[in-house]
Amino acid sequence: CGIVGYVGQRDSSEVLVGGLTRLEYRGYDSAGVAVIAEDGTLATAKKAGKLSALTAVLDAAPLPRSGTGIGHTRWATHGGPTDVNAHPHLGDNGRLALIHNGIIENFHALKTELIEEGYAFLSETDTEVAAILIGKAYRETGSLTAAFRQVVSRLEGAFTLLAVHADEPDVVVGARRNSPLVIGLGEGENFLGSDVAAFVAYTRRALAVGQDQIVTITPSSVEITDFEGNPVENAEFDVQWDA
Ligand code: GLU
Repeated sequence: CGIVGYVGQRDSSEVLVGGLTRLEYRGYDSAGVAVIAEDGTLATAKKAGKLSALTAVLDAAPLPRSGTGIGHTRWATHGGPTDVNAHPHLGDNGRLALIHNGIIENFHALKTELIEEGYAFLSETDTEVAAILIGKAYRETGSLTAAFRQVVSRLEGAFTLLAVHADEPDVVVGARRNSPLVIGLGEGENFLGSDVAAFVAYTRRALAVGQDQIVTITPSSVEITDFEGNPVENAEFDVQWDA
C-alpha cells in the first residue's frame, strides 16, 4: 500500500519509518522494512498491525546502521494480515528482499511453476512469487537491475516493486505497472516512494517513473529504462507541498 526506498548516508531505518508514517493516511494492516548494511548484511523486520507495532520491534532489536533500505505498509489482498505475510519477502536464499504494492494476477501459474522446480514458499502472498523469481534471475545475471528486466514483463496485473540485494549494498531497484512510483532526487542520496509524501521531508525535487519502467538508484545516480532495458528520460518536477 505504502512504499519507501532510500540510498544515501542517513540511517535508512529512520528514513523508511518516517516515510511510512507520512504514508499512513492511506490505511494498511502490516508494516516492514529491509536494510543492507555496508558489510552486505541483509536485515529485515516486519509485523502485522500498526506502524507502532513495527517500531516496537525495531526499538527492542535495532537493525544494523545502513544507508540502503526499503519499507512497506501492506493492505492484504492475498493471504491474511499476519507477520509472515507482511512484506518484505525474501528470494535468493535470503539475500534479496522485495516489497510490493498491488496484485500479481498470474501469481498462481508462476507459483506452480516454481514449486515444480523445487522452490518452497513461506507466505500466502502473490508477492513472494516475484521475490523468488527475481532472486532466481539474480543467480543467472548477477545484477538486480538485470534480474528485474528478466522477470517484470512476465508479471500481470498491478505492481510497484522495490528490491535490495545483499551483494549490491548501495542499490535499490524499482519497477511499476498500473501502480505509481516516484523518485526523490537528493544530494548524495536518492529516494523512491509510492507518492511524494514518502520523501517530501528531505527533497522537493521529484521524477515520476512511467508505466512499465524500471529504475535503479544509488546515492549518486538514477537510471530509468523501459522493461526491455532501453534508457528513458523523464521530466523532473518540483513537489508543491505545505508541510
Ligand atoms: N498483494 C500483496 C499482498 O497481499 C500487496 C498488497 C498491497 O498493495 O499492500 O501482500
